[in-house]
Amino acid sequence: MDALPPGRNDGCPELVNRRRLLWLAGGAGMAAIVSACSASASESRTRPNPSPTALATTTGPNASPIADPPPQPMAPPTLPPAAASAVLLCRDAWGARPARPGGRPHTITRMTLHHEAVVLGDNRNAPGRFRQDQRYHQDQLGWVDIAYHVGIDRNGNIYELRTTEIAGDTATDYDTTGHFLVLCEGDFDNEVVSEAQLHGAALAFAWAAQTFHIASDSLAGHRDLAQTSCPGANLYSHISSGDLKRRIDDLLAAGSVNLQSVCGPDAAATVAAIEAG
Ligand SMILES: [Zn+2]
Repeated sequence: MDALPPGRNDGCPELVNRRRLLWLAGGAGMAAIVSACSASASESRTRPNPSPTALATTTGPNASPIADPPPQPMAPPTLPPAAASAVLLCRDAWGARPARPGGRPHTITRMTLHHEAVVLGDNRNAPGRFRQDQRYHQDQLGWVDIAYHVGIDRNGNIYELRTTEIAGDTATDYDTTGHFLVLCEGDFDNEVVSEAQLHGAALAFAWAAQTFHIASDSLAGHRDLAQTSCPGANLYSHISSGDLKRRIDDLLAAGSVNLQSVCGPDAAATVAAIEAG
């Protein structure tokens, strides 16, 4: 995280003002109805079974040479890669204010992970946290918008935050130009990250890697760039172990990664459902 509202423990004690990173969270709740159509599941549903004959001739220690194999069926056509798809809850759905004019246009060249550094408690709190962050970042820190580009709640919902066309903001000492900033709600020095939230983050990063033509090995944690504990030990471990990069690579290898922006009444109803628990 980059900056928190007054009184919040941002987890980056070395910094004076870190209340601002939260801007990413702009989407609306259930966004991450996360890619229910995973590549493997989709493939298993659609790929024809290999013929028993083909298996018998190629597998198993007892497979014996077949002197006169029967004609082989035509190989099944190559199927298009399965796509991962998730909802991106748009700004209006979570109650974002308009962005202020200005900001620094940039070209995204790398990806960086943050946490809120505030214990989330119930996931119903997530949309409100994004609103709170945006108010703080705009009103107290003078930034044009919430600091981050995409937010992920504990259930893996993906929220649209600041436009990716404008560089993020930080109260710490690194240059956000070129960074695609993802914010995971929670304090991962004090909470364990859920599988759904990790998957939501992987989807957002995979989408960015594909959209902006950047390599997954550009992924870093905030602590790799500045004096901060962000994104918290329990989340950072998924970067240091390579787990999050593997998840991103697996999504990219399976095919296109689509974040479908959902706005209007449907998105608002989704966020209302998240806030109702
Ligand atoms: Zn951070």
